[in-house]
Amino acid sequence: MRKIQMVDLGGQYRGIQEQVNAAITSVMETSAFINGPEVHAFQKELEAYLGVKHVIPCGNGTDALQIAMMGLGLEPGDEVITADFTFAATVEVIALLQLTPVLVDVDPETFNIDVAAIERSITPKTKAIVPVHLFGQCAPMDAILALAEKHDLYVIEDNAQAIGANHTFSDGRKQKAGTIGHVGSTSFFPSKNLGAYGDGGAIFTNDDDLAHTLRGIVNHGMYERYHHDVIGVNSRLDSIQAAVLRAKLPKLDNYCNRRRAAARKYSRAFSGQPNITVPKTVNGCEGICSTCDCHVFHQYTLKITNGKRDGLVAHLSENGIPCGVYYPIPLHRQKAYADARYDENDFPVTNQLIKEVISLPMHTELDDEQIAFITKTVIDFVIE
Ligand SMILES: *Cc1c(COP(=O)(O)O)cnc(C)c1O
Repeated sequence: MRKIQMVDLGGQYRGIQEQVNAAITSVMETSAFINGPEVHAFQKELEAYLGVKHVIPCGNGTDALQIAMMGLGLEPGDEVITADFTFAATVEVIALLQLTPVLVDVDPETFNIDVAAIERSITPKTKAIVPVHLFGQCAPMDAILALAEKHDLYVIEDNAQAIGANHTFSDGRKQKAGTIGHVGSTSFFPSKNLGAYGDGGAIFTNDDDLAHTLRGIVNHGMYERYHHDVIGVNSRLDSIQAAVLRAKLPKLDNYCNRRRAAARKYSRAFSGQPNITVPKTVNGCEGICSTCDCHVFHQYTLKITNGKRDGLVAHLSENGIPCGVYYPIPLHRQKAYADARYDENDFPVTNQLIKEVISLPMHTELDDEQIAFITKTVIDFVIE
């Protein structure tokens, strides 16, 4: 059996080596390292893939979120509601801009932000909601958009983990994750579903004026050379990364399907196991329907409900199976973000999830032998 990896970027590279190498070489030969034609071409191709009017490439997914918030003109003291159960980047940029993060609990089955908890947290100071499409599927966008409209709030989608996922609205219309709210962000960190070979990120919007503002902010607040109209940042996708991403973008749907196929095999093997809960997809197919396009499985995350999660982490490691606990500490209990305003009773789900979740190897190169070994090792330990 091939060595099992959490994310097999080397294996994926071997399948696209020629295109990627040629793309990188062409950037070297033109020496257009910054803002070269590859960046513009990638921007256009991603706009077409996502069906969004504007893609603004930038340096990484954290910058993308920060720039999105800067572009909306949010001001110190404005409250921004986001999920307690996510990667810290989401809350970090809110705090950095001196906005007030308001962390709320999540749904126990999809791990995504809980709409009722958002509603309870809205005050006259609330200006925006940041749903995170965690582990690869959309937060409940119908309800979030309705709440935002009712209270006149911006919706900023943190789509670092769900590029390529579709959201199906209650009327059957489909839209790509990250293009649904006023503005969305993504990350091209190498292990993300559309990963570069270094850092990268992008912002998405259908709003022409906002797109214009954002394009200036990423470039030192310049709209005309050496005229700095607003305080900006320096955040660029470099041309070599854009060339890599151009080689990978046409394969993204196929990569998503390979992740779904692996998820389906995992979920079938675990189905019926009493103390193992498989991830639930928003349309209820539990990741085992073959046509599901709602989940792109950035992570495949189980809940181990008989108290053996920590034991399982150690057992998998002894058997050469990498795994991850995303996330082990709720944001409201992180030193940087703890706040007397938070009440533990407001976070029953996150406080439970951190004890139960475990993410198994998930990538485009998993084979049946590896999946069989992983599922058997998990089941034998959990039922014993
Ligand atoms: C990865 C990630 C980010 C940050 O992306 P970087 O490119 O690493 O800055 C933000 N939010 C979430 C949910 C992420 O998973």
